[in-house]
Amino acid sequence: MIWNKAKECMSQEDKRRLQGERLRKLVEKVYHSTPFYRQKMQEMDITPDDIKTVDDIVKLPFTTKQDLRDNYPYGLFAVPMSQIVRLHASSGTTGKPTVVGYTRRDLSVWSEMTARCLSAFGTDDNDIFSVGYGYGLFTGGLGLHYGVEHLGATVIPMSTGNTDKHIQLSHDFGATALACTPSYALYLAEAMAKTGIPRSEFKLRTAILGAEPWTENMRKEIEAKLGVDAYNIYGLSEIMGPGVSHECEYKDGSHIIDDHFLPEIISPDTLTQMPYGEQGELVFTTLTKEGLPLLRYRTKDLCTLNPETCKCGRTSVRMSRIVGRSDDMLIIRGVNVFPSQIESVILDLEEFEPHYMLVVDRVNNLDILEVQVEVRDGFYSDEITQMLALKKKIAHRLQSVLGISADIKLVEPFSIKRSEGKAQRVIDKRSLN
Ligand code: ADP
Ligand code: ZN
Repeated sequence: MIWNKAKECMSQEDKRRLQGERLRKLVEKVYHSTPFYRQKMQEMDITPDDIKTVDDIVKLPFTTKQDLRDNYPYGLFAVPMSQIVRLHASSGTTGKPTVVGYTRRDLSVWSEMTARCLSAFGTDDNDIFSVGYGYGLFTGGLGLHYGVEHLGATVIPMSTGNTDKHIQLSHDFGATALACTPSYALYLAEAMAKTGIPRSEFKLRTAILGAEPWTENMRKEIEAKLGVDAYNIYGLSEIMGPGVSHECEYKDGSHIIDDHFLPEIISPDTLTQMPYGEQGELVFTTLTKEGLPLLRYRTKDLCTLNPETCKCGRTSVRMSRIVGRSDDMLIIRGVNVFPSQIESVILDLEEFEPHYMLVVDRVNNLDILEVQVEVRDGFYSDEITQMLALKKKIAHRLQSVLGISADIKLVEPFSIKRSEGKAQRVIDKRSLN
């Protein structure tokens, strides 16, 4: 079902006009309320009068995560703290965390856009959701939570951890939908199988997965193991949280909520806008956000955009799956490698489980990539020749996809650590040296 037809199915012309109006207001607002943007615009010799249509976006300055850190905690907020009703913070694995603030209106926009996503996944007020994203500073838990309530469905605020209880309550409460990271969905599927409760006793039908990159092969694996229809939801705290884009029943790219967030693709090298269809860095401008409005925020996420109207009737621009973050890209012996490429190869081969770990190191000035991967039950064997043949098979595939060789370490099922939140699949020892 389409939750907000007036916005989701707007004609391209009307959308552009609306985006243009909102952009003009936004620029006017930040120019006068955020010294950071006023200064940047003055340095570039532009004023709000230079922004007339949505195409003028290219005249505006970019914003980066570093800018948020430099202005920690509240320097980029555009309203007084008396109007901020909620704070969230990103994990901040490197340096200070980034803090984001929401006004009451921001929260209501967020709930509405998340309800649009859930509606596109075919869920409605009859559904019972178990939310397995972390509740707390991370936007995943509360973001989905309010979306489910706005939809009028029932929410079970499970959060992460406590997997046995999660399964028990999903069973007892008749949960029909699950929201969590793709890696946690896999973990839950394994744990559910171990409980011995027959799948037919669970009502679970739909999985809403995001917060980390995943591949089409991973979707097939999760759908088969968990017995659900799995959909992608994307978002980031700086822009809002989960719900910035979502798939529909056609699963052909994720619809961006582009009446609120204006997307662009830029070349991360030249910082110039790239045409639709070309892969580059995704950039968002928050057209309506009050608490922390951002101009041209560089997400570091790499993907392509497609402006064609979807078969579902939505006219919003769709983004492809995230290939990776530009800062997740590994450069191994000079070759660019994304973990998602390796995941695709592993999941294409029936002998392997979708659990892997990449260890990169530098030995004698040479980069070494080790791929640790679990062999599926039934394929794991004590026979050395069999295991060698398996190793050769995957090594050969990886070589042809990546263009570099990798050392393969086959491990037993269940030996790689499972993740409850965002999966950590790369250990780069080179950066630790
Ligand atoms: P951080 O991980 O930086 O602490 P967030 O929780 O806001 O902060 O994470 C946002 C990032 O998570 C996105 O920029 C993107 O890289 C990743 N992400 C979120 N959803 C998806 C998704 N559906 N597919 C791929 N990557 C995603
Ligand atoms: Zn669609």
